[in-house]
Amino acid sequence: MVYNFNAGPSILPKEVFEQASRAVLEYNGTGLSILEIGHRTALFQEVIDEAMATTRELMKLDSDHEILFLHGGASTQFFQVPMNLLNESETAAYLDCGTWGKKAIKEAKLYGKIDVVASSKDKNYTYIPKGYTVPKEAVYFHYTTNNTIEGTQMHAIPDTSIPLVADMSSDILSRVMDFNRFALIYAGAQKNIGAAGVNMVIVRKDILGRVNRSLPSMMDFREHIAAGSLLNTPPVFAIYVCMLTLRWLKQLGGVAAIEAINDRKAALLYDTLDHLPIFRPTVAKEDRSKMNVVFVMEDEALEKEFLAECKANGMVGVKGHRSVGGFRVSLYNALPLASVQALTELMNEFALKKA
Ligand code: PMP
Repeated sequence: MVYNFNAGPSILPKEVFEQASRAVLEYNGTGLSILEIGHRTALFQEVIDEAMATTRELMKLDSDHEILFLHGGASTQFFQVPMNLLNESETAAYLDCGTWGKKAIKEAKLYGKIDVVASSKDKNYTYIPKGYTVPKEAVYFHYTTNNTIEGTQMHAIPDTSIPLVADMSSDILSRVMDFNRFALIYAGAQKNIGAAGVNMVIVRKDILGRVNRSLPSMMDFREHIAAGSLLNTPPVFAIYVCMLTLRWLKQLGGVAAIEAINDRKAALLYDTLDHLPIFRPTVAKEDRSKMNVVFVMEDEALEKEFLAECKANGMVGVKGHRSVGGFRVSLYNALPLASVQALTELMNEFALKKA
């Protein structure tokens, strides 16, 4: 038995693995593998249509928002977003609340003026900054909803009238939100949406078309919208896996249903951490992420030993990011509650042994 707590690419539902494997051998009785069908065939059109329709339904998106499946990972959005939204003379506001947000800021600076409205760098990004104001002249306000590496999460949508742009790579579809409040959302697929190799971008059409720079076609959101995400050959298999994962989520009851399960997983793990003094969660309590739980051990010397225990019990992906150390346990949508139960049992046993 393997318990997969990887931070991404990460666990996907078992049914998705089974269906995707079958489709590699033969897709839907066609005699063809999913890997050898043309992206402009009716067969693939059905796949991408279902992926888009299910996303719209799950996120309750209105007709002003377009859904795109693009290449390049979330990191491409760090520059594609300002390229499409920000003129050189204009200002965009950014929140500096983690490693990925910092990277987004670096790239955005290539395209316009960036006002970093607040930062939690002073405490190694272990909390979410609060009490900042977003300048009125900002064209948009960018933030990362969940900081995958540091384990913090923004639990409320910021209260501002400035168009919101969010990197939701590591918590999209994990909790109910008013997704229509966002002018643009992007997320790499490899955590809650599906397989690596594709990005989901959700954009409100009215924010596009106001920049005065020339955009290469592949970088222009409007071109991708016009082409229905088929401007060039898309990552067909990755989109297929997204469609299967989205279908799985819909069948399970949608975002509210998965949120209830995610809440139980996170509560169980944090309660265990809070009750066992040998472990110490590293982030401010009110900003704890329900997707990536980061903690260290009071006695650093025990970390190697606990890690070995995890390995011996089939628990993979629990080692913290190299920049933070300790442990990081990812609780994405497809991770069953039983995996968290197994891990917390191991933690309890380990703590008892060391008491
Ligand atoms: N943003 C966040 C919040 C992430 O967690 C990651 C990757 N883990 C990225 C951006 C970068 O994604 P990609 O590797 O797909 O470029």
